[in-house]
Amino acid sequence: MRKYLANLRRSRVEFGFGQEDEDFRAEVRGWLGVHAGGVTDRRTWERTLGAAGWIGLGWGASGFGNRTAGLTQQVVWAEEYARSGAPPRSGHIGENLLGPTLIAHGTDEQKSRFLPPIAAGAELWCQGYSEPGAGSDLAGIRTAAVREPGGRTYRVTGQKIWTSLAHEADWCFVLARTEPGSVRHHGLTFLLVPMDQPGRIEVRPIRQMTGTSDFNEVFFDGAHAEHVVGGEGNGWRVAMSLLGFERGVSTLAQQIGFAEELGAVVRAAEESGAVHDPVVRERLVRQWAELRTMRWNALRTLGGSGDAGAPSVAKLLWAGWHQRLGELAVLVRGAAASVGPADWSAATPYELDASQHLFLFSRADTIYGGSDQIQRTIIAERVLGLPREPKGAV
Ligand SMILES: Cc1cc2nc3c(=O)[nH]c(=O)nc-3n(C[C@H](O)[C@H](O)[C@H](O)COP(=O)(O)OP(=O)(O)OC[C@H]3O[C@@H](n4cnc5c(N)ncnc54)[C@H](O)[C@@H]3O)c2cc1C
Repeated sequence: MRKYLANLRRSRVEFGFGQEDEDFRAEVRGWLGVHAGGVTDRRTWERTLGAAGWIGLGWGASGFGNRTAGLTQQVVWAEEYARSGAPPRSGHIGENLLGPTLIAHGTDEQKSRFLPPIAAGAELWCQGYSEPGAGSDLAGIRTAAVREPGGRTYRVTGQKIWTSLAHEADWCFVLARTEPGSVRHHGLTFLLVPMDQPGRIEVRPIRQMTGTSDFNEVFFDGAHAEHVVGGEGNGWRVAMSLLGFERGVSTLAQQIGFAEELGAVVRAAEESGAVHDPVVRERLVRQWAELRTMRWNALRTLGGSGDAGAPSVAKLLWAGWHQRLGELAVLVRGAAASVGPADWSAATPYELDASQHLFLFSRADTIYGGSDQIQRTIIAERVLGLPREPKGAV
């Protein structure tokens, strides 16, 4: 199994990395080797990454990224980052979602104002899309933004939910209804809202079963916003364009992380002796084979030969795969995996071990970024050409 995992890591050659990319890999690995260990404060870490020029590699010729890296070097950076054991990025939403969206739809003034602080790791962002009544069906948004008469400023009122990193963010991009009485995807506007507005914005962390609070409820009560991206009423187009940036090179990096996690489960199975159980062996090999298939699918898609359903197929595959890995991780660990904190509801944070965390957190994988059911609907309609699902009023 170890040999298989090593092969999987080596398989990057398939993507067509040249000598320049391998030199770049050596530079990245060297830098991360010195800096990635022992990060304690994620905000300072973002500034360290920015100062060293590692943010905005994929911003192309916009002139706002720290350096211009081609697709292969972006993949190298993402792979090495995943392998380094550095903490998850707090700046991911600004760098990979808002940055490309501003480059595509922002005014020159907006690019100059917002892109440099993202590239410096100085301003963090969160994504204000989902609401209690608008998740899979995002067009059900009710948060309203009203423009002050004769002015440029909007007043935003409503509630967002599941807002990752809102408790750390300086800014939030908010999809809000600016045309009273409009329905569905009409009359929506993409607004940039500063989070530091005491009394007008309240962030309430949501406690998860993992014991941590990665996301929040966010309440807006007349919050000010003056930056509109893409023009008033064009929010749906901008919002959908942003979702298109959610995928891409990060998929391959994610698979490096998956390979590391699978490797840890294999090691745990070897240590506990579970590896001698034929059912466990069969499941470990299946996980490996499926991870390999996902890699080929990702390479095919990045190489431009994916079809309209490719992102949905990839999401369905990895979400289910990761959940099954979590189930396998606790199976391999045995009865000890069921021993948790004395009081799961306690207000104080608790620590879970890696297998418990993987098992519990991966329950979210089939929900965010478009649930399994939604991905199957997309494949049914766009690839198989099955009759479209009835929608509400338009
Ligand atoms: C870890 C995590 C982080 C997140 N971070 C953010 C964030 O930063 N910003 C943000 O805006 N949102 C975020 N979300 C929210 C996420 O986008 C939504 O949870 C997701 O869109 C699903 O919406 P919902 O939770 O309202 O569930 P619902 O849409 O209510 O779905 C409930 C169930 O019904 C099913 N269902 C719904 N509609 C259909 C249909 N038409 N056909 C078949 N089945 C259907 C779903 O598949 C699901 O099983 C995050 C979610 C998670 C889990």
